[in-house]
Amino acid sequence: MFIEPNYQSNKSGWIEVVCGSMFSGKTEELIRRLKRARIANMKVEIFKPSIDTRYHSSNIVSHNENTVDAFAVDKASKIIESIGDSEVVGIDEAQFFDHEIVDVCIALANKGKRVIVAGLDMDYLGKPFGPMPDILAIANYVTKLHAVCVRCGGIASYSYRISKVNDQVVLGEKEHYEARCRNCFTY
Ligand code: ADP
Ligand code: MG
Repeated sequence: MFIEPNYQSNKSGWIEVVCGSMFSGKTEELIRRLKRARIANMKVEIFKPSIDTRYHSSNIVSHNENTVDAFAVDKASKIIESIGDSEVVGIDEAQFFDHEIVDVCIALANKGKRVIVAGLDMDYLGKPFGPMPDILAIANYVTKLHAVCVRCGGIASYSYRISKVNDQVVLGEKEHYEARCRNCFTY
């Protein structure tokens, strides 16, 4: 369980990352943290890359249909351009952003904001995904979540692509991907 850092004792901003495979609960966890920040009367803004329109163009939606409003932006620098006076910034599907997202996260934290980033740590081949390795390196707090392996019920860290397409980015859900553990991913 992630314990939120204490705002009173920590006046500077910071960066939290929630990573893991598909279906591991990243968006669910991001929404949980953002809702708690709102309960604490903090101003919250949420961004996602406009490439990800699987469910909704301006919401983030988890696989269990939990949802919050979000701004869809086509590049990382637009986050800085459109940010208001929020104290907490959520970013979902960060693996799809351009590399500038790393500097954007640092700039937001340096301004005193709590930055919560969710994203896939690995692509369907098990390789580090986009800017995520660098975001993980500069984060103050990292949470790695796991899904349930759909073949054996074990702990899944991998997003196995069922469909036979070789592009790194194929948007989709259960028709294209399933969560698998190391053994079932490599078999
Ligand atoms: P992510 O953002 O990491 O893709 P979500 O937060 O959108 O994940 O969805 C997590 C939810 O997905 C779980 O609470 C559960 O209801 C559902 N789910 C579907 N398949 C699986 C699986 N194989 N393992 C775990 N949860 C799954
Ligand atoms: Mg998600």
